[in-house]
Amino acid sequence: MPRPLCATIHLDAMQHNLSVARACSPQSKVWAVVKANAYGHGLERGMRGFAQADGLALVETEYAVRLRELGWTKPILLLEGFFDDSDIPLLAEHALNPAIHCIEQIKMLEYTKLYRPIDVHLKMNTGMNRLGFMPAEYAAAHQRLAAIPGIRSITMMTHFANADELEHPRLPMHEQVRRFKSGSEGLAGQRSLSNSGGVLHSSDLELQSDWVRPGIMLYGGTPGGKSAAAFGLLPTMTLTSAIIGIQHIDAGDTVGYGSRFEATGPMTVGVVACGYADGYPRHAPHGTPVVVDGVRTALVGRVSMDMMAVDLTPVANARVGSKVTLWGDGLPIDEVAHAAGTIGYELMCALAPRVRVREGRVGTHG
Ligand SMILES: *Cc1c(COP(=O)(O)O)cnc(C)c1O
Repeated sequence: MPRPLCATIHLDAMQHNLSVARACSPQSKVWAVVKANAYGHGLERGMRGFAQADGLALVETEYAVRLRELGWTKPILLLEGFFDDSDIPLLAEHALNPAIHCIEQIKMLEYTKLYRPIDVHLKMNTGMNRLGFMPAEYAAAHQRLAAIPGIRSITMMTHFANADELEHPRLPMHEQVRRFKSGSEGLAGQRSLSNSGGVLHSSDLELQSDWVRPGIMLYGGTPGGKSAAAFGLLPTMTLTSAIIGIQHIDAGDTVGYGSRFEATGPMTVGVVACGYADGYPRHAPHGTPVVVDGVRTALVGRVSMDMMAVDLTPVANARVGSKVTLWGDGLPIDEVAHAAGTIGYELMCALAPRVRVREGRVGTHG
């Protein structure tokens, strides 16, 4: 029998969450973001779960080619564009739409002949200060790009730093939107704006854009703020395992490496087959929620490479073999992430290759 640890991917929930994104932004076409191995769900599963999307967006050029090999015929967006002039023939061959975010990329396109026209996204830096042209430089970049033979269309794009906190004191959303509008004023073409945060708050923002680029919400997480369930999103990845050992300890006994947890009274400790080498965050502190046999309990002691310990005191009848849910259906990943001082994105993406993955409907694994 294989180790009991298993990630179940809910393709039905992925489809459902895509329909939630569409309902939030009914005027927009949707790029489903499948970077980082579809946020840990598997590229091919991302393609199947989001088969109804208008396009798929990612950052890995080799995975973009893989999507074509797997039969994806709709548009593909490369969110970081291309990295070297030797990538340019690939763009034409596989009809990949690169984001163009720096002058070096424009220069490469100027001196490398495109043997087939491509569509591009021209990125504006509206305050994230990661990738993109400043609003004041944007029109000139647009003009220079438009003059290159083989550039068929230019979609105007920006990325929000604070879509989960609209009134951010340093950089509120309306300021980023204002910069985008001023930098793109008078330019013709489609616009691509929101990530999940922007999509989830589109009614407050009154943003009109031809394309949106949700990621985390499609995987049943949120970028912050309200819970995923409050938006009607369903978990798409449930990580489950089992109790593989039980210890009965007394006041003063300790658990795990470094003896960081000390029992204050008699307690039952269950050992779960899941550790940081599986992608569970090593820094998760005592008290991080875990569900055993449907009962919510808590992590105790340090997470080790292959195992972690949980308090079984509140779980009547817990035994070796009891089912454990680490996150997903029955335990929101955002809650586990929050307890561990990180975000759901990181937990999903860090799912280790050694974890078995299967597919199953949501609602059958809680
Ligand atoms: C990752 C990414 C997204 C998706 O962001 P979420 O917060 O997961 O919705 C959208 N646009 C760009 C440019 C990205 O890099």
